[in-house]
Amino acid sequence: MDLLFQLIQPAQSWLFEHLVLPLLYHAGLMTYVDEAFDGTGVFVLGVAEIVLIYAVLRPLEALAPVEHWDNRRATRVDVLYTFLYKTGALPFIFFVLLTLPLSQLDYGLRALGYIPPNLEEWIPWLGRYPLAALLAYIVVIDFSEYWRHRLQHRFGWWWALHALHHSQRVMSLWTEDRNHVVDGLIQSLWLAAVAQLIGVPGEQFVLIVLVFRLVESLSHANLRLSFGKFGERMLVSPRFHRTHHGIGVGHEGAARGCNFAALFPIWDVLFGTANFAPVYPPTGIRDQLSGADYGTGFLDQQLKALRRLWQAIRPATTTP
Ligand SMILES: [Zn+2]
Ligand SMILES: [Zn+2]
Repeated sequence: MDLLFQLIQPAQSWLFEHLVLPLLYHAGLMTYVDEAFDGTGVFVLGVAEIVLIYAVLRPLEALAPVEHWDNRRATRVDVLYTFLYKTGALPFIFFVLLTLPLSQLDYGLRALGYIPPNLEEWIPWLGRYPLAALLAYIVVIDFSEYWRHRLQHRFGWWWALHALHHSQRVMSLWTEDRNHVVDGLIQSLWLAAVAQLIGVPGEQFVLIVLVFRLVESLSHANLRLSFGKFGERMLVSPRFHRTHHGIGVGHEGAARGCNFAALFPIWDVLFGTANFAPVYPPTGIRDQLSGADYGTGFLDQQLKALRRLWQAIRPATTTP
């Protein structure tokens, strides 16, 4: 964990000293020095992550693609989503918007006499094995992410937003971040609230988010890759998550879809939503085949999703 911070720290310090600090000084915002330093770290980590996923996954996509595209133009909007989410531009806005509700949650919990537990206090031997403690936090968070994702498909208003993620017909390593900004805000609130409830230490939270993001970038790649009979049940693979994006497969049926897990398919196995069929279906939403338009550019997609959201929540109009 320390290694991660040691790796990014030189770039973080350099950028902070040469760019961020002078900007803060000229803007008269020197009271926000600490926040700006942390924000610079998030930015550097995001850039490093993008370089890493591109360097590793892009050659793999070229080597063993599921689909061959004439050009990659339709993937470009997902690149924009990736930069907005990973380099901290959107998370920064979310952070500002969520500070109040999360501090209210903390205040409310303490008023009720609830002190967030620390897993190491509950299970003392975990304290001696930092990696086991980290894994325990990851398992609990992954369980909560599974249920968040189930609800995204269950509630009409939430699906109106989440459909944007599913509407990509050319799914690639960039698609993980293709999410509506309101959806992104809700997801951030959900994750931060769960982390707060179970008392995840701040520096571990950064690492946990990174683990989720790396696995999810891999699982969206245009990559013909399955982890085998045993491995498919241990970790979400590109094959497993592709089925979640499969037209008519990933968003229909009794559970309104299958393969909801982010990291561990065990949740889908336990709750009857796993699909291990060894296939690589085309991705998208069924009504796109009959012309439904989810938008092509960033703003277009954002506005169309808001329109779907409004249609899902507006009061039913009674016809005379
Ligand atoms: Zn989904
Ligand atoms: Zn996905």
